[in-house]
Amino acid sequence: MYDIIVIGAGPAGMTAALYARRAGKKVLLLEKEYPGGQIVNSPLVENYPALPNVSGAEFAEKLQQQIADLGVEIEYREAETLEKKDGFFTVNGSEALQAKTVILATGVSHRGLGLPGEEELVGLGISYCAVCDGAFYRGRDAAVIGGGDTALQDAIYLSALCRTVYVIHRRESFRAASVLVEKAGQKGNIVFKTPCIPREYLSDDNGVTGLVLENAKNGSRETLNVDGIFLAVGLAPQNDFARSLVSLSEQGYLMASDDVVTEVPGLFAAGDCRVKKVRQLTTAVGDGAMAATAACEYLDER
Ligand code: NAP
Repeated sequence: MYDIIVIGAGPAGMTAALYARRAGKKVLLLEKEYPGGQIVNSPLVENYPALPNVSGAEFAEKLQQQIADLGVEIEYREAETLEKKDGFFTVNGSEALQAKTVILATGVSHRGLGLPGEEELVGLGISYCAVCDGAFYRGRDAAVIGGGDTALQDAIYLSALCRTVYVIHRRESFRAASVLVEKAGQKGNIVFKTPCIPREYLSDDNGVTGLVLENAKNGSRETLNVDGIFLAVGLAPQNDFARSLVSLSEQGYLMASDDVVTEVPGLFAAGDCRVKKVRQLTTAVGDGAMAATAACEYLDER
């Protein structure tokens, strides 16, 4: 029986584990893939206070080391269902695990465009991670699809490797922070293609060869010859396993207040997985700290 099971080892979950362990609680951190969450895909985090030039991977590694030094156990397995009975939680997966409280910090995962051939071309020219796969396109042409922070960050990162980087966005104005849009605009080899909607992936036996775009204003079509396509069209939550216990929003985010409390006593939701306005590294770690503190208070009151 654990005091706290934290589900998800991204920045929110690892911070929750850090705080809970420092409060002397018996904590288990569950992760289904790798520690770090989405931040490991960020080439450079420029808006984390006091760490102006840290890469996402470096941030995640340091946080992982910090919790390991405190003795936090990470188990790599997927939570398949979550139940609460007689005041205790059971996290079901390859083994049933029990806890007095649970912190959900399941983050979000990449969304695709859903165009034909997309799944088959992942790894053959389509990628969700510029930091991981950018080097394959050194000296070649690539496209980044999306107009948010991820797309602009990826484009800036790729501009140091690729010959030309096209940023394809369906609207004329970008959702990304203006500092990123300006920085990208100053790169001589980044070309903005707006307002343009990707309609078709082109490929041969070796993988991606291009992309068909439709101009959203006049409907005209053009073909871009690119070897790599980086998808940065947003993120989706992955909370279905908890649906029978806790309410989800229409988009699948966990319903929790800004102090990370859910409708279920002893169950907390931290980071990008919950309904919230600002999804940033800073807000994720803030949520993690709040969730652990709330869980400790809940345990101490019982
Ligand atoms: P996002 O902000 O949701 O942006 C997704 C982009 O993809 C939007 O520009 C959207 O267009 C476009 N898009 C969505 N569906 C599309 C479709 N079917 N076809 C074409 N385009 C489509 O996602 P994100 O950039 O991954 O960022 C997610 C969160 O992480 C945000 O809160 C962001 O601020 C944060 N983040 C922060 C940093 C940082 O602080 N350094 C870095 C990366 C991410 P519209 O604009 O028209 O909706």
